[in-house]
Amino acid sequence: MTHILALDQGTTSSRAILFNAQGSTVHTAQLEFKQIFPQLGWVEHDPLEIWQTQLQVMKQVLAKADPDKAVAAIAITNQRETTVLWDRQTGQPLANAIVWQDRRTVEYCHALRQQGHQALIQEKTGLVLDSYFSGTKLAWLLENIPGARSRAERGELAFGTIDSWLVWNLTKGKTHVTDPSNASRTLLFNLHTLAWDDELLALFNIPRSLLPKVVPSSGVVAHTEPTLLGRAIPIASMIGDQQAATFGQACFEPGMAKNTYGTGCFMLLNTGHQPVASQNQLLTTIGWQRPESSAQPVAPTQPARIAQAESGNHTSALVTTYCLEASVFMGGATVQWLRDGLNIISSAYEIEALAASVPDVADTYLVPAFTGLGAPIWDGNARGTLIGMTRGTTKAHIARAALEAIALQVADVFDAMAKDSGIALAELRVDGGAAKNDLLMQMQADFLGVPVVRPKITETTALGAAYLAGLAVGLWFSTKDIATQWSIDRRFEPHMAAAGRQAKLARWHQALERSKGWAT
Ligand code: ADP
Repeated sequence: MTHILALDQGTTSSRAILFNAQGSTVHTAQLEFKQIFPQLGWVEHDPLEIWQTQLQVMKQVLAKADPDKAVAAIAITNQRETTVLWDRQTGQPLANAIVWQDRRTVEYCHALRQQGHQALIQEKTGLVLDSYFSGTKLAWLLENIPGARSRAERGELAFGTIDSWLVWNLTKGKTHVTDPSNASRTLLFNLHTLAWDDELLALFNIPRSLLPKVVPSSGVVAHTEPTLLGRAIPIASMIGDQQAATFGQACFEPGMAKNTYGTGCFMLLNTGHQPVASQNQLLTTIGWQRPESSAQPVAPTQPARIAQAESGNHTSALVTTYCLEASVFMGGATVQWLRDGLNIISSAYEIEALAASVPDVADTYLVPAFTGLGAPIWDGNARGTLIGMTRGTTKAHIARAALEAIALQVADVFDAMAKDSGIALAELRVDGGAAKNDLLMQMQADFLGVPVVRPKITETTALGAAYLAGLAVGLWFSTKDIATQWSIDRRFEPHMAAAGRQAKLARWHQALERSKGWAT
């Protein structure tokens, strides 16, 4: 029992990754599934296709695996906020899942804001009243699927985010659970009491009978139904994707932060065991909840730990870790725009050499507010702006300005996090597709004034979930074991002097001002 099978159920594909006890990838499989766009601004997934693709990739990986090194546990990480409503009797979804990107409840959120509910919601949930989160999506399903509300009131239906949906199917309907990291993205979960909140349920008109039981992010919650995979395998972790990446980056102490450079950028900062309310429009969210056993002085033998974990006989208390979170809408997507919109590069990889062919941006700034600006500015009417060009400006300057724009947006968010938390952040751990770009990472270190650290394993989302499961079944004993496995590929030290950094950020903020309020 030396391996963990991590399920990474993402927005565009379902993946399964087998990790060994060193935290290295042994086998992987991946299947894409349909993105459904029924109307402008609507995004749906077929929940049955999500489940079928996930089951297939699990089977593919298990078929490749060495049977002598059996799987000790299954770990689950998932696209967050995506909302599924299903029949408890038949397990059939009542409708397609409403995906986190879906904007159909924008007006409903606007109406709730007009009624003055934002402050209560922020205080209780740490979130902003936005269609991004599950609560208004679930309310929409109950209002718009014929019969759904009365059936929900009779206790016939179940709601879940994708973690819940996968566990329900893995146990053939025996287990309806979620973890606090996923629950904290629904608008229905109280960050302080760590429970579903009656006042919020009343506000969104959600019957309590729909809700899953909230269980720790790390711990054996159920076993897979034996006929699915040939034997009953413990399901030992559930965690939302960005929180999983934070755990996979071994950000275990308050003040440790990671940034993922994907399509957008997602930064999470561990703020310790108390929620920190944001003054800068960042989100407060639950990182993970797990038993922390400071009381256990010596490591028990592995089989004993597995028995203890499986019996649920934890000797230690559950501890909840909170995070501040910020997202930048246009991260690597800015590079995609240079490739697909401007055609000045033919692959994302080429941007590094093109940008490096000039020594600086020659005072040119690209504000990639293509879909407005997110944290910490929040201007939905801001639009993309390219400013400071002269006759000498070339595509190389624009490429360099694009990379700088990613790093400058992240620097603003990093600064907001430091202000909100009162913590002087010592370094930033990075992952995601664009973190491969050395020039971008050096710019990032320069604009932050702290080192940027890229680990050897950048598969951090699946790895974080695997670590949480492995801790539950005794493959790893403590987060110290994991922190020693986390190893550095490259560390980028800041080279820019403080005065230069301040001047750079001040000029960038001037450019940001020019982009605001353009759309009407
Ligand atoms: P996601 O999970 O959001 O699909 P990934 O982590 O796979 O994103 O990263 C893909 C993004 O990274 C794309 O937006 C792409 O433009 C960008 N990207 C990939 N390689 C590079 C690179 N060498 N330099 C800059 N950006 C890159």
